Amino acid sequence: MLMASNIKPQPGIMDITLYQGGVSTVDGVQNVLKLSSNENPGGPSDLTKDAFSRAAHDLHRYPSTDHRSLREAIGEIWSLNPERVICGVGSDEILHLMCQAFAGVGDEVIHTEHGFALYRISTLAAGATPVEVKERNRTVDVDAILAACTPKTKLVFIANPANPTGTMLGASEVARLAEGLPPQAILVLDGAYAEFVEDFDAGLALIETRGNVVMTRTFSKIYGLGGLRIGWGYGPQMVIDVLNRIRGPFNLSGAALAAAEAAVRDVEHTAKCRSDNAHWRDWLAQALAKSGVPSDISKANFILARFKSEDEALACNAHLLSEGIIVRHPKGYGFPYCLRITIGDESACRRVAHAIATFKEATQ
Ligand SMILES: *Cc1c(COP(=O)(O)O)cnc(C)c1O
Repeated sequence: MLMASNIKPQPGIMDITLYQGGVSTVDGVQNVLKLSSNENPGGPSDLTKDAFSRAAHDLHRYPSTDHRSLREAIGEIWSLNPERVICGVGSDEILHLMCQAFAGVGDEVIHTEHGFALYRISTLAAGATPVEVKERNRTVDVDAILAACTPKTKLVFIANPANPTGTMLGASEVARLAEGLPPQAILVLDGAYAEFVEDFDAGLALIETRGNVVMTRTFSKIYGLGGLRIGWGYGPQMVIDVLNRIRGPFNLSGAALAAAEAAVRDVEHTAKCRSDNAHWRDWLAQALAKSGVPSDISKANFILARFKSEDEALACNAHLLSEGIIVRHPKGYGFPYCLRITIGDESACRRVAHAIATFKEATQ
């Protein structure tokens, strides 16, 4: 049926390009190795899976609307005030709510050149204007962001560590950014990969000393729960109160809440994932460098491998696919000459390193 021509979506929505998830299958290949979505190769911990299974007995019950038990667990583990935690359907929902609540038609929202695609999507969905700022050497550039701020700037999104670069801003640079923003703007620190960094507060100290910083976190990466969709945010009480007014009262299922609580409390397992990841990430970066494929020092659970050209990156990607290995070609993030490779377990790292070495030898 034809759509009546007077019926139109809100401004901005038709400018949204659909988010591209990591590919997970290769035609005709059985033993596929998926290293395209920064997933934890070991999946969730045993305690997390047990909690999820137990939740099956309560599927007829509506879940908690205030997420108190999960917020208290997060508060305990990360030493923060549970009253100022908000839980969402992935950190995606928190990012989305931030735009919906604080940016609208005529407002500007800053993201960086290689920043996460969702910042732009959520900005447009709210009717606001995305403003893209250059990075420097594949790292967020505080001066460039401050120079791009105007009286219309409402939000600034950065991920730290960043995706797909894996690079980080130091605490003093993040503080300089927060201090330099115009008074009506909020800095959103996306900490999707924060748990992979040793002794990192993800901006917590800054949030406690300033009124204009919010942090988002996820259970999709180190906790291995991407399929369950759980994230959280932390910030000033006023911001959290605003977000709670617009989020769905039953946004998280009981099973998701139970699994997330078990996951965040399983600190031993998280520490093991962190150290395994660091070990194999550094091993893989060195192995690729030996094959003539450099990368920046990554603090996350992936590395951004640089090739000589887009053609070489695409040829290597084709070779990897022929071996059943799926990585990400981050062309849409401004890196046509790169491949982003998730850190898998030992055998995954050895398999992808070997395949890239073979490719380089054959094409040299
Ligand atoms: C993976 C990722 C997220 C997590 O999104 P969820 O909705 O929590 O799964 C957020 N930000 C960045 C930069 C990411 O790479």
